[in-house]
Amino acid sequence: MQTRAFWLRRIIVCAILGGVTAWLVAWGIVAAEWKGVASSDLPNQQYGVAIVEPHLVNLYERRSPTTRVREWIVTQLDERIVPDAPTWRETLADEGPDAVLERVRAYNGQSTEPALDRFAQAFASNRVAGLIIDEQAYIIRERLHGWPFASVAEIRAETFRRLSGGTFGSAPVRFDDTKTVSIPWLTGHDPVWNLARRGNPTTIQFPYRPDWPGLAGNAAFYGLLWALPLIGFPIVRRRARMRRARCGSCNYDLCGTTSGVCPECGLEFMPIA
Ligand SMILES: [Zn+2]
Repeated sequence: MQTRAFWLRRIIVCAILGGVTAWLVAWGIVAAEWKGVASSDLPNQQYGVAIVEPHLVNLYERRSPTTRVREWIVTQLDERIVPDAPTWRETLADEGPDAVLERVRAYNGQSTEPALDRFAQAFASNRVAGLIIDEQAYIIRERLHGWPFASVAEIRAETFRRLSGGTFGSAPVRFDDTKTVSIPWLTGHDPVWNLARRGNPTTIQFPYRPDWPGLAGNAAFYGLLWALPLIGFPIVRRRARMRRARCGSCNYDLCGTTSGVCPECGLEFMPIA
């Protein structure tokens, strides 16, 4: 029966399959990176530098077609932690973040692109940053996976402390809101902390923090792909049947039927004069 309910059901099925496919593609990318099949070594690009009191914040971003990595490297702007903190303060106050960023990029041999001023606000509103704001130094790594859009996010943080010798020591990851799941028999090497290909494999951490705009875009993309066989094919078949004077729904021969209703399945049709 190809009634309105039939088409509505098909549209709902396509939407659900689109969402599931978008999710599976993102997790497939994660698994590929943990397995070393897909490279996670992306060229680094510094996108911003700013003072978000009491911290000096540097934002780096790297992109591949399937993965977007954003790193906020945050240090308390304190002479005991950043020896040239007063210089940073003066330069940023005098020249503004764009000029400083330009200089940092020139120093690193990177091309200059317009600075993303919004990153400072984005950082200030970052919930992870709010959780560990009193640490001396920390890195927040946000990885987004998905294709064609980044749709599933993973956020991890690592904190650092100035040790007595003057160097920075890494503290255990304190942030415990990473929102990942693992499947016991799926193992690989963690690409996030550059530990790849070192040590024993561990269970793959699949992130389940959705990036809603990207997930919606991917769900629509894969939903339309599912619609080709699930909606497109029945439409084509229905047209072909009706051209042969048969019921578009059940293929019953309607030659001689004048009631406008298929005697087999009850579908209404335009009677052929
Ligand atoms: Zn019929």
